[in-house]
Amino acid sequence: MHLLHHLLPLLLTSVLYTAAGPTPAASQCRCLYGEPCWPSQSTFSALSDQLSQPILHPVPPESACYPPSSPSGNCSALLSSFDNGDWRADQPGAMQLPNFQTYTLPNGTIEACYMNVSLGVPCEQGSVPPIGVDARTVEDVRAAVVFARQNNLRLVVKNTGHDYLGRSTGRGAFMLWTHHLKNMTFDQEFVPDGAPSSAEKVSNAVTLGSGVAWHEAYDFVQERGRFILGGISVGGTVGAAGGWIMGAGHSAFAPTFGLGVDNVLQFTIVLASGQHIAANAYQNTDLFWALRGGGGGTYGVVTSVTYRTHPVFSLSMAVLTANFSSMDIAQSVITKFIKSQPAWSDKGWGGYSSINSSSFQLQYVAPNVSTADMNATLSPFVDFVSNATQGASQIAYQNFSSFIEWYAATYSQGPPQVGYPILGANRLLSRALAAENPAQVAEKLLSLNGGVLGTLSVAGGAVSEVDPSSMSVFPAWRTAVAELYNTVTWPEGSPNSVIQEQVQALERNTEILNEITPDSASYMNEGSPYEKDFKKSFFGDHYTKLKDIKFKYDPASLFVVPLGVGSDEWDSDLRCPV
Ligand SMILES: Cc1cc2nc3c(=O)[nH]c(=O)nc-3n(C[C@H](O)[C@H](O)[C@H](O)COP(=O)(O)OP(=O)(O)OC[C@H]3O[C@@H](n4cnc5c(N)ncnc54)[C@H](O)[C@@H]3O)c2cc1C
Repeated sequence: MHLLHHLLPLLLTSVLYTAAGPTPAASQCRCLYGEPCWPSQSTFSALSDQLSQPILHPVPPESACYPPSSPSGNCSALLSSFDNGDWRADQPGAMQLPNFQTYTLPNGTIEACYMNVSLGVPCEQGSVPPIGVDARTVEDVRAAVVFARQNNLRLVVKNTGHDYLGRSTGRGAFMLWTHHLKNMTFDQEFVPDGAPSSAEKVSNAVTLGSGVAWHEAYDFVQERGRFILGGISVGGTVGAAGGWIMGAGHSAFAPTFGLGVDNVLQFTIVLASGQHIAANAYQNTDLFWALRGGGGGTYGVVTSVTYRTHPVFSLSMAVLTANFSSMDIAQSVITKFIKSQPAWSDKGWGGYSSINSSSFQLQYVAPNVSTADMNATLSPFVDFVSNATQGASQIAYQNFSSFIEWYAATYSQGPPQVGYPILGANRLLSRALAAENPAQVAEKLLSLNGGVLGTLSVAGGAVSEVDPSSMSVFPAWRTAVAELYNTVTWPEGSPNSVIQEQVQALERNTEILNEITPDSASYMNEGSPYEKDFKKSFFGDHYTKLKDIKFKYDPASLFVVPLGVGSDEWDSDLRCPV
């Protein structure tokens, strides 16, 4: 037991009262940990009797290193694994990006538990929910949901904790941890619940429990001789059936197979009422529409997602690096790169690039392409870059016999993507803008100042072939060819003033991109918690319909997340209605 567990009730009680003022009427505001309305020990015991696992007491994983003179937990495990996504996903109190474990008081004081104990800052719970349920069965999920509703708690659904908006943490909240819902089943013939007997069966579908991570799904599906479209990150630790899919779900293979949402056959979900239902093309079709893009943590607790799979394929990868000796060279190469996006995505090429005024890298992949096809598509660009940079560029091509071989070679390990503070922001790049005004896009990208910048070429091609109104995912995805992203970071333990400088850099860069993307369309799953108009930027024209569906299935707004559908009716802490 961590020392922090013993200290927390005292710490939190004092903080909640001083920072939040008197407790408003329970009927209006959520009840937070430490308030008199918080359920008693015996109420929690009654919940515990219904669960398959002991009640959880999540703590920031860094608390293992406190007090520094006599660490209360396995501090060396933290120090060796803090940037390992699987390790962080195994800790109920860890977010992948530790800045989302912290809480900033209105006066700018940051409550956190830093890994660097030499900062001399006491370890505090921050935004990590202090209590929760380790759900292993649908019954566990139902018990937790009903408990949260009956006790008017702020419910936080957490899977892997990769979220960029802080949607899987909440100060003083009650956590429902889906990490151990690891069931996977493969159906050679899948029939959605409620389908009429005449309905066509779908071959080779896979059903993933909502705690399954992408690397687990990839191995499971590959063993059955199939491919599944999923997230691409170091270690494959993003959740396969949680926030990724409910936000859109992109991949370098999306130009060939569509977005994640284009591959879903069915969700099963526990609603605020405790009911466990299926949503698919035959029943609860409005909810099915909403769950394919309406955002995680908003409609209920998804317990499983059923996906189409695809035949396995061989694939080709191109990796290009270039150095720019002048801004003119950078401008000409990035212009050509942006202009190439529509044609490349139509031919199934997708991938990632990083851009700055002195260098450029890209990694692109495409399934089932011959060497001749690859040369026809990419060589004109590669030759252009070589000429423009006067030879200061390199290209490497590689073939792989399968997706899983490529994934193991390129993403099983790599530079850490998690374990340090990050904020991101992005704008979707439309096909029209890339085709008609690539020079302007290049100019804006090269004028951004601060942070890491790049493109995610994860749209176009098959993504553009789907009717934008057929599901809730932001319609701008259907006319996009890429996501333009920007991230910032800062040293752990930085004061709020330093963090705010980075936030301002991110916002300035976003304003520059807004000049060429007036719809300000953004991918919510890699968006900024500081997005100015989240309804417009994350949901567009679908917002009103999404909200209507939310209130149909969650009339008391049990499921509210920052910048999510319905969050406009709550204060910034999602504690009290406004
Ligand atoms: C290193 C890294 C790599 C990434 N790579 C990609 C990528 O390749 N493609 C891409 O599209 N995105 C990518 N993302 C973004 C990713 O899609 C989001 O972070 C997403 O929110 C992660 O979902 P999760 O369930 O894993 O995480 P969590 O943080 O646990 O959950 C995210 C949101 O979903 C909700 N949620 C989770 N599970 C459920 C459930 N069962 N029922 C209801 N709500 C639920 C949570 O409440 C929260 O609102 C990446 C992010 C990171 C940090």
